[in-house]
Amino acid sequence: MLTPNQTNFSGGPGALPETVLQQLQEAMLAVPGVGLSILGISHRSDWFAGVVAELEGNVRRLMGLSDDYHVLFLQGGATQQFSMLAMNLLAGKTSPADYVLTGYWSGKALPEARREGPVRVVWDGAADGFRRLPRDEEMVFSPEAPYLHYVSNETVEGLQFRRILGRDEVPRVCDMSSDFLSFPADYQRFAMIYAHAQKNIGPAGVTVVIVKDEVLKGMPDHLPSFLNYHTQKAAHSIYNTPPVFAMYVVLLVTRWLLEEIGGLANMDAINTRKANRLYQALDDSDGFYIGRAAVPDRSRMNVVFNLRTPQLEAQFLEAAEAAGFSGLKGHRSIGGIRASIYNGLELPAVESLVDFMDAFRQRAMNTSGQGKGSAAAPKVGQEVEL
Ligand SMILES: *Cc1c(COP(=O)(O)O)cnc(C)c1O
Repeated sequence: MLTPNQTNFSGGPGALPETVLQQLQEAMLAVPGVGLSILGISHRSDWFAGVVAELEGNVRRLMGLSDDYHVLFLQGGATQQFSMLAMNLLAGKTSPADYVLTGYWSGKALPEARREGPVRVVWDGAADGFRRLPRDEEMVFSPEAPYLHYVSNETVEGLQFRRILGRDEVPRVCDMSSDFLSFPADYQRFAMIYAHAQKNIGPAGVTVVIVKDEVLKGMPDHLPSFLNYHTQKAAHSIYNTPPVFAMYVVLLVTRWLLEEIGGLANMDAINTRKANRLYQALDDSDGFYIGRAAVPDRSRMNVVFNLRTPQLEAQFLEAAEAAGFSGLKGHRSIGGIRASIYNGLELPAVESLVDFMDAFRQRAMNTSGQGKGSAAAPKVGQEVEL
């Protein structure tokens, strides 16, 4: 078997557990018990009906969702949901939906909702460069809003809510694309949760949409069938040909979460250790690595930081790539460095990155200052030219 010589720290598609990749390698030739390649099994087969049922059940179990939540597997990514949710929940409404604007992705959801109906921005973090999240006292949520929308983890800026926002009487809708199934919470307080697979739970091509039955009741029926949650619900995610392969990968990932990891509390403990290791490395670097997000709002999925100059950042990225750390370049909208440490990325990979970062810093410090190759301890605030 070929072994990869790069570790995937990319913002997405993210790293997947090795045991899952091994099972996929086998399934590519023949799925155990079926005898056909995963790429050529009918979505109308009994086997696939079993996949959908198990997948729904696993998501419910992991998140603690009761039967009045529908678990759908749709296409079009999170971007399709920006529109689809507004078509279903906002069109024809007179009072505006509340949107919390905390970064790049919540900023993408907003104009799509505006095409469908009235929207109000509850809080706008642009003035602070999206370096922090709002405190509760900075937001006034409307009791009249058809729904509240926010993004639980801003993937680009590395900001993560660890609390649930909003008023209980207003349906909460949350884009959890980049921290889905990464920590436990009272998910039944949401009316709708959506997350594409390609960051935390699988490959691109499938998006999980969780909708409470009560919310579906008020939805209009004039929409194109494909974009109507009723249709998708009634068809159990097989309204048309679904992404069988992507859904099978997600199934294997949910099995891994349940059986090998042991649930979301354990996953969270692992993710927290990984994130703490990296943030510690930033905080212990005497300002060589500069964390972007306000400390209380730091994401456990995307660790975003800068070095002192763009030149130094370019050298860092080049050296990292050569050392086998792939995908560390920050999002094109803000630059810098982003280490994405999704569920499937293991602690030893983070430890290797931290070792690399320490070594890079030492090298940069030694090369500048009192002479090249000097082993002298780096001085705080020393100018670095490498
Ligand atoms: C990556 C990302 C998206 C975009 O998802 P697509 O599947 O590419 O449409 C949306 N929301 C969040 C939070 C993301 O991280």
